[in-house]
Amino acid sequence: MAELAEWLQQHAPCGYEIDVAGWCVAARRVASPNCNARPASSEVELVVLHNIHLPPGKPFAGHDVEHLFTNTLDRSAHPSYPQLAELRVSAHFFLRRDGCLLQFVPTTARAWHAGVSSWQGRPGCNDFSVGIELEGSDFIAFEPIQYAVLDMLLAALCKRHPVVAIAGHSDVAPGRKTDPGPWFDWRRVRTGLQEGHVRVAGGEQNSAPAAELRPDGASPQQST
Ligand SMILES: [Zn+2]
Repeated sequence: MAELAEWLQQHAPCGYEIDVAGWCVAARRVASPNCNARPASSEVELVVLHNIHLPPGKPFAGHDVEHLFTNTLDRSAHPSYPQLAELRVSAHFFLRRDGCLLQFVPTTARAWHAGVSSWQGRPGCNDFSVGIELEGSDFIAFEPIQYAVLDMLLAALCKRHPVVAIAGHSDVAPGRKTDPGPWFDWRRVRTGLQEGHVRVAGGEQNSAPAAELRPDGASPQQST
């Protein structure tokens, strides 16, 4: 744990707070065009957790998720990429296996991560949520450093926005999405979260298997 604390001190000496414009000071900023304004009456009340990695089935390396979220994916690099390159998707954050945090969209804006979704009967989760992509899959455990950074990011988000719940993509799009998947340890998030009023709702509902990162056609409700 001493090594972990040292790593965090080096990588986030200023902490993970979210500034007034919606940017996390500790994140590497890679602006995505795949975003728009939230509806005037919407505030960030929900955090949606996902998993993603590219290319499919390959070791965690490279920058293709960045390319996907910035519409610069090399279509020739993988057989699935011509279809993926048609998607217009993003997330606010991408948390890599080594704990590095990237931010594509300010939290004050609406990223395109949840697609067709609902939370407690309220549709269109992109309107009122922040999306965090964890580099990983439904088939492998996440890294301890990812949970450590996630704890701090969630605390910062709860401080900056009126967050009331944290859920998985599989919770807001059951039957269509499976991420963050069975290997994601929701108990660690519950343990790490200091904000007692925030409901860690992930994993409360079972979801049917579905292919993650399946292109959903030209629908404006695309998701990751
Ligand atoms: Zn997802």
